[in-house]
Amino acid sequence: MPEVQTTVGVIGLGSMGLGMAQTLATKGFRTLGFDLSADRRKLAEDAGVLPQSTIADLVAASAFLVFSLPTAQDVRSVVEGHLDLLKGKTGQRVIIIDTSTSEPDVSRDLAKRLEALGHGFLDAPVSGGPAGAASGKLTMMIGGSEEDLALARPVIEAMAAKALHVGPSGAGNVAKLVNNLLAAAHMITTSEGLKLALAAGIDPEAALRVVNAASGKSMISEVHFPTWVMSDRFDSGFSMGLMRKDVRLAKKLADSTGAQLPLAEQVASLWAGSTELADSDDFTRMGAFKAKN
Ligand code: NAD
Repeated sequence: MPEVQTTVGVIGLGSMGLGMAQTLATKGFRTLGFDLSADRRKLAEDAGVLPQSTIADLVAASAFLVFSLPTAQDVRSVVEGHLDLLKGKTGQRVIIIDTSTSEPDVSRDLAKRLEALGHGFLDAPVSGGPAGAASGKLTMMIGGSEEDLALARPVIEAMAAKALHVGPSGAGNVAKLVNNLLAAAHMITTSEGLKLALAAGIDPEAALRVVNAASGKSMISEVHFPTWVMSDRFDSGFSMGLMRKDVRLAKKLADSTGAQLPLAEQVASLWAGSTELADSDDFTRMGAFKAKN
């Protein structure tokens, strides 16, 4: 419980943001919340969060802002739409902790512009899914200054079991795109491995048990396949559309840096080309899609 009750405003109360807001409220922060959806605001209110009718109300009252928004464009438009309000908040350094999976260039640009107004911006994307958000056990990868991280640490530690400072602004986004490129690849490689087992007359469940006791395992094979793919549940809470975005951003980063990644090219084309699956489908369906086709 913080000594003086700190006010944290959470913008975006979706699969991740709602859990994070609930965690902050449970841990004693005065937690305000805003989402475009009235249904999400109501769910947040039921979870002990104080819903706000506008982002401006939330920004005006908060010392820390936690973003959990779909894309870098959403993050940019929320910040740009409230720069005047933030400019007026003198005498208090507001820190934005952006947990969205966003773009390094956008984070760097926003951090620079907010710094000029005396405020801080940390790119702080997360891993751990809705369950990690709701239990305060996320892994967070952070880009930004040591000073802003020190200020934000109590809020970050309430949400994350592991908080890794990767480097300056944008570094957290780069690390997250690397991570999700690997997770996207593992979803395909694990599924292809099980498809091979099946084609060769081995029970895929038995093959998966072997992989998870041997060197082929990943978190995708250890957690996602048993929990969401083999069980046919497909309700991990992370959408195809958001994973497609991450793979697209990883490819964009490879193109802009000149990194030659032949397997990543193939992964990107498989995620973009799996048109049987809608953006609204759970991303774990990609494992089953590949096993059956
Ligand atoms: P989501 O689609 O469930 O939630 C996003 C929420 O943001 C929605 O409720 C939407 O109404 C709201 N929103 C959109 N624009 C807004 C705006 N301008 N103002 C206020 N609210 C707005 O998405 P999610 O799964 O919670 O993911 C959020 C972010 O976290 C994404 O960047 C995603 O890539 C990342 N992420 C998701 C997971 C996961 O497992 N779901 C894991 C790690 C990271």
